[in-house]
Amino acid sequence: MGRMEKLSTTPRLFVEQPLAMGAHVELPAPASHYLVQVMRMKPGDPVRLFDDQTGEWLARMADPDKRRAVVTIESRTLPRESVPDLWLCAAPLKKGRIDWLAEKACELGVARLIPTITQRTIVDRPKHDRLRAHMIEAAEQCGRTALPELAEPVTLARLIKDWPAGRALIFADEEGGAPFTEVAAQCPAPAAILIGPEGGFTDAERALIAAVPEARAVSLGPRILRADTAAAAAVSLWQAMAGDWR
Ligand code: SAH
Repeated sequence: MGRMEKLSTTPRLFVEQPLAMGAHVELPAPASHYLVQVMRMKPGDPVRLFDDQTGEWLARMADPDKRRAVVTIESRTLPRESVPDLWLCAAPLKKGRIDWLAEKACELGVARLIPTITQRTIVDRPKHDRLRAHMIEAAEQCGRTALPELAEPVTLARLIKDWPAGRALIFADEEGGAPFTEVAAQCPAPAAILIGPEGGFTDAERALIAAVPEARAVSLGPRILRADTAAAAAVSLWQAMAGDWR
């Protein structure tokens, strides 16, 4: 980097193609527009790129074409990160709320987001591309070099049936459970947090979950939280107790 350049203020973008030293990368139209029209980048100006595979790279503007800008990769600035193996299994919510949840899952360091259809889930399946776009934007902003994996929606029954042995299932039960701190201390990665829809879980679902040997019901306190709040709170608590915030 030149003396006047600060890495932290250099634009940071996700690209779909795998990156490598010396590569010339043709950026898609939205990224080109952003860098050339909005950021007014000139030849030689720096940009950081990450691809979810090889880490983060410093590149320089080669051809500031406003539709197809080309940058040249100069050096690797970060290896691909490893985040704790934490899944967030959350019932789909209406558009704005599930988008917020996807963004926060990325920022808070979730490894995998699994939209989980429960009996009282009333919204349609979330659009995969839209949720992924929210996670990408969050990753660009928060410095992640690995995107959370966005799984295909699955029913709770199927999720439970296929539950992997040895993965703790921290079940946020609005009807009460053990204090979160107590459970999190006993549930390091690999772990998962399960959050219900706005209508909560049915008793049949509670019974299904309770039959999983790895499941532990937890309380998130005396107030009923919205599902999106509950997800962010639970992921934060787990990261602080058992994840990479320590
Ligand atoms: N309609 C339900 C509340 C559902 S809240 C009722 O009135 O009882 C949506 C989800 O957020 C719940 O299914 C649960 O997973 C989580 N949640 C919200 N508040 C919680 C709390 N105090 N303890 C544990 N989980 C909670």
